[in-house]
Amino acid sequence: TKPTTRRGSTRSTLVVLAGPTAVGKGTVATYIRENFPEVSLSVSATTRAPRPGEVEGVSYFFVDDAEFDRMVEQGEMLEWATVHNAYRYGTPRKPVDDAIASGTSVLLEIDLQGARAVRRAMPEATLVFLAPPSWDELVRRLVGRGTEDAAERARRLETAKLELAAQGEFDYQVVNTDVAEAAQEVVDLIQIRKALSRPP
Ligand code: 5GP
Repeated sequence: TKPTTRRGSTRSTLVVLAGPTAVGKGTVATYIRENFPEVSLSVSATTRAPRPGEVEGVSYFFVDDAEFDRMVEQGEMLEWATVHNAYRYGTPRKPVDDAIASGTSVLLEIDLQGARAVRRAMPEATLVFLAPPSWDELVRRLVGRGTEDAAERARRLETAKLELAAQGEFDYQVVNTDVAEAAQEVVDLIQIRKALSRPP
């Protein structure tokens, strides 16, 4: 008889964390990066300018339009989208492939369009929707962070309505009331999915 190939017992999983503007996706993702080293956080490329405190290569790879075009043309993006009708954001493919190949789970913090593109490209990916405790709380968080003017806030809230309506497309919902608790829930889901994908 032919020997059967035993798949590793530590199969990695790709997890998408999406959700409306200001729900705290970035904060939850950063908390996971700092507290759960077993999960690798994908760093996106974007054409928008850095906000105060953001670090090149950690928050994002900040690139100009020409460089973004080049990355898309050369097939370097796993997915990309124009978000809030303004700037382009994309997930560089190679770090994700490398992490998965080495058995490390990868977290992508991306928008709804990106989540849908990942679902098409990788049906086995885990899609997690980070939801606000309420609509009023979402508005309060967006106003409170003070990084957008009124016109930009209105645009983001329009997008947020559409995103909240698409929650059903996700495998799991996590309500972000407390950052540490939400991060723990996301990491627990990663462990569950790994266990489920493990061959008997
Ligand atoms: P921000 O400008 O506030 O950092 O991000 C704006 C939006 O872009 C967020 O909804 C965020 O999830 C999304 N985003 C960040 N990186 C990516 C990416 O690589 N791909 C996609 N599709 N969306 C992204």
